[in-house]
Amino acid sequence: ILSAIDIRKSFGDVEVLKGISLDAKKHDVISILGASGSGKSTFLRCLNFLETPTSGKVIIHGDEINVQNGQPKMSVPIEDIRKRLGMVFQQFNLWTHRTVLENVMEGLIHVRKKSRGEARSIAENYIERVGLSQRVDAYPGHLSGGQQQRVAIARALAMEPDAILFDEPTSALDPELVGEVLKVMQSLAEEGRTMIVVTHEMAFAREVSSEVVFLHQGKVLEKGTPDEMFATPKSEEFKRFIASM
Ligand code: ATP
Ligand code: MG
Repeated sequence: ILSAIDIRKSFGDVEVLKGISLDAKKHDVISILGASGSGKSTFLRCLNFLETPTSGKVIIHGDEINVQNGQPKMSVPIEDIRKRLGMVFQQFNLWTHRTVLENVMEGLIHVRKKSRGEARSIAENYIERVGLSQRVDAYPGHLSGGQQQRVAIARALAMEPDAILFDEPTSALDPELVGEVLKVMQSLAEEGRTMIVVTHEMAFAREVSSEVVFLHQGKVLEKGTPDEMFATPKSEEFKRFIASM
């Protein structure tokens, strides 16, 4: 459903992604692990073209975007491709002056071109899905971090993307709020959603994901099923990474 082939990205003279490939099939939950600065966020951003790779290929649902020398070539507009991928960020990125309901309706109206009535009913459905029906009229500032992140997840889900990309969705949360967000993510995995998750939550990587990818200095150093990866880590770098967690 989502493939990346030999993605490279340089900032100036510094190559931060050195040829990363990844293949997500429908229902896959891929956890991306790696130390700070290993290129995890940059890679996610290259997948949905928030960042243009320097070179490489991204294939989403059969549509291919081929990048050479920073110039993407594609058969469908980038907006169409971006719409197929949801994104959940560390810092929620909600509209602070809009209610929970309005935050989730926004993309449905302006991107999906739904009527207000239709947008409202879809939004309410996904807000319920993340357990926030009681707070539809609240403003983000009046919600806990965990609740805000659940709104961000509802907003991503409402767009009915082919896959959802998560960039450290629980890293900004107080420890006691991490669980409620992971629980929602686990239930999404169980209902078969395709997810790519950059995370430092080892329990999630180990128990929920179908594949674990370990990035080191802009390269995939190791990947495999969580069982393989955690039972028999191969590289010294991954062993050290696990030990540091
Ligand atoms: P963290 O765990 O801290 O979030 P990360 O694995 O997500 O780290 P990236 O944010 O992808 O790492 O950064 C990879 C490298 O690319 C870092 O050395 C970073 O300084 C560099 N980098 C990222 N974005 C830019 C940019 N816009 N301009 C220049 N360098 C950048
Ligand atoms: Mg990052």
